[in-house]
Amino acid sequence: MPTWRTSSGATLVRTLQKRSFRNLTSELSPDAIVCTPECPEWANQTLRWSTWSAPTFNMVFIPAEEEDLRIGLEYMTSHNISFLAIGGGHGTSIQLGELHGAVAINMENFNYAVMNPDGTLKVGGGAKFGDIYPVVHEAGRELTLGNCPCVGATGAVLGGGHGRLQGKHGLSADAVTSARVVLWDGSVVEASATENADLFWGLRGAGHNFGIVTELTLNTWPQENDGMHYNAAMEFTSDSLEGILATINDIIPNQDPALALDMFFYTNPETFTPVITLNVVYAGPREIGEEYAARFATSPSNYTNSHITRVSINETLIAWDELPHVIANGLIDMACIDGAATNIYSSSTARFDIPHTRQLFDAYVAFVEGNPLAVLSLVFYEVFAQQGVLAQRAEDTAVGNREYANVLALVQAIYTNQSVADAGDAWAREWRDQLFEPEHSGYDRPAVYLNYAHGDEAPETFYGYEPWRLERLRRLKQQYDPRGYLLVFGGQELAPLQFLEIARNGLRNKTKFSGPWTPAEDDKLRHAVLMHGTKWTKVSEEVGSRNGDQCWKRWHDNLDPQIDHSPWTGEEDAVLLQMVQETGRNWRDIVNKNFPNRTPLSAKNRYGLLQRRQDNNGDYSSSSEREPSFTPTPGPHAVPTPTTEMIRASDMHSGTRLSTTSSPFAFDLSGDLTATNMNTQDIGATSTVLDESAFWPIGVPGANSDSLSRRFLDMPTQSDIRLSEGDFESAAEIVPDRSKALHVTVSCNAGRLEEVMHHISKNMSEMMATGEIQRVEYSVE
Ligand SMILES: Cc1cc2nc3c(=O)[nH]c(=O)nc-3n(C[C@H](O)[C@H](O)[C@H](O)COP(=O)(O)OP(=O)(O)OC[C@H]3O[C@@H](n4cnc5c(N)ncnc54)[C@H](O)[C@@H]3O)c2cc1C
Repeated sequence: MPTWRTSSGATLVRTLQKRSFRNLTSELSPDAIVCTPECPEWANQTLRWSTWSAPTFNMVFIPAEEEDLRIGLEYMTSHNISFLAIGGGHGTSIQLGELHGAVAINMENFNYAVMNPDGTLKVGGGAKFGDIYPVVHEAGRELTLGNCPCVGATGAVLGGGHGRLQGKHGLSADAVTSARVVLWDGSVVEASATENADLFWGLRGAGHNFGIVTELTLNTWPQENDGMHYNAAMEFTSDSLEGILATINDIIPNQDPALALDMFFYTNPETFTPVITLNVVYAGPREIGEEYAARFATSPSNYTNSHITRVSINETLIAWDELPHVIANGLIDMACIDGAATNIYSSSTARFDIPHTRQLFDAYVAFVEGNPLAVLSLVFYEVFAQQGVLAQRAEDTAVGNREYANVLALVQAIYTNQSVADAGDAWAREWRDQLFEPEHSGYDRPAVYLNYAHGDEAPETFYGYEPWRLERLRRLKQQYDPRGYLLVFGGQELAPLQFLEIARNGLRNKTKFSGPWTPAEDDKLRHAVLMHGTKWTKVSEEVGSRNGDQCWKRWHDNLDPQIDHSPWTGEEDAVLLQMVQETGRNWRDIVNKNFPNRTPLSAKNRYGLLQRRQDNNGDYSSSSEREPSFTPTPGPHAVPTPTTEMIRASDMHSGTRLSTTSSPFAFDLSGDLTATNMNTQDIGATSTVLDESAFWPIGVPGANSDSLSRRFLDMPTQSDIRLSEGDFESAAEIVPDRSKALHVTVSCNAGRLEEVMHHISKNMSEMMATGEIQRVEYSVE
């Protein structure tokens, strides 16, 4: 038999998506664009500011107008397709990297900024800061905006929006008076103090969670000093650090609302010398700005007893809209260059712990020396005034921890060569973790600005510690995004940690029962996972006695057959102890990297046991105490593991027969595939069931090989292919290796293969659309 091999699994995905979108494109306005990887613009369309932990897409959708977006969202969510709105593409988070095969919704056609006669400003959901400065400046107005011209304004404002003018006008989110939002199901709503006021509350600070914003309206204020700002970029010798920090600490408690300080530790990539640079911007008269700059002049004229040697100063009086391009001698403007990997860990602090900052500086220098390929790495501090931020009543917006944000510190590992990725991550994380400590931050608890969060922090660190805040956000989430399409950087099970908490509690039923799981409940859970995969709301409904969160946890901590329940070996113990010592107690990270089949809970328990042993005997290796262990409740068979993605193209195998863990159910495809309603008897007449019980391991009514194959073949087809018996010889194995993942192997006459694949992919497309399967792995022989 001739052999024909597919180019890659991704081809099938694209085929499916093109098919899925065929009907859609006819409804869109002529200027809307649907771009697949074959588009000449694909690389540009999917390029992000940072390649670190970047999401991957199989399609870019560029709506031309709100109605396109509305139709697109309605279509995508009714077909269970994940999506992510893209503004400026500057978002970074570990969870972004967990989003695969989604549709990128490029908001570039919503890039307008218009001043209204009443002094308010309308900003399109795709405008970047650079689109807004000139419009507002031209009107003689100002408001708090971010520093970097190419950052998406809506992406920033929805998370709070922090900027140099916040001492005068508060956060950008505080200036929002209304928003227009397309919700997940395509409905369009307005949110303001008088309309959908709860949504309006959530949009200002946690706004990425509730819908795609097509337009914001913001307050602006008349400019002072004719919109001219004093700007001084200064460089210092490394031994000036203590003097600079002492001076800034002196300024912070009574920081002038118009004063903004940016400090960088970076490395000159040509000479490899470390540089300390400080930028003073004063939104007011030059003389006052000069006074602040003078505090950082070479000793003895500075305001502290510590030594300062200022190497250079570059002073300008510059128009507000030009500032972003010149401040810090153009360093901020350089942040518009896309494509490097930037892994950011951030913490907010009350002031500088001077000896600790010296240690951080020295560690930074050592890190770059040891990892020259990470020479672009830097540490960045923003010290903006707080009066305007604190003037806003904290309970009126979803911005959390307002009073915990005097200094925003960003430790950034930047590189273009992956070989330094791990070292960069360890370095940046270590210093962020230290900065979270009260002794270094000056705050009693960790805090981070949401838009600078790495993604591994507890939600309270950016949404605020008052319990009512998370509760309110959970309720809102349930109301405005009940199916979890907008979990900032991905779908429900790809949720970033900061929102997963909300998703788990907001999207799933309230606790029904507590206490240990019974064997009967475990059996129900196995069956429910088999039937519904990772749709935990549905799983919970079927189990009946537990909420989605409990089901999720029970599955991932205990029942998933891939979990290794064997006793920990001495070798594993040693690795575990070493990892905790080196990287801290990030159990998920530790198991992912070292024990992929063990659970974070098991690692945590094991470590606790080892510690207790050491406390008791001074020896980790004693086995005087039993490890709390999981004994799987007896179930008839193991069940497949659910996948968490809808489609992960990179996971797909091509051209090879897939190995499977369970015996395949095989059947013969040599019948007439145009049959629209092939019933059980049809299948029975042509199929050879090898081992039904092995194929569908749980002996639960409704879950058997027959039902799956029937669903597959019963799909009505509009295909014009007519394949009659004898036309080709074929054999297809459909193997549910993991729940919701279908492995298909097709053998047939080469001349008809394309048609056969067309037919099969159409059926799969429909099964994916209905959520019956979430992933297809296939090979052709
Ligand atoms: C170089 C640099 C400078 C920065 N400077 C500042 C600053 O001065 N002040 C500040 O506050 N922050 C700043 N940030 C952080 C910035 O606010 C966040 O990175 C923000 O998420 C970027 O938004 P974006 O649209 O560019 O990114 P994207 O990656 O396109 O979007 C980020 C998130 O916002 C969502 N989103 C974007 N547009 C919409 C929309 N219209 N409706 C709904 N959701 C949307 C996306 O879906 C995604 O979840 C900076 C970041 C970088 C990298």
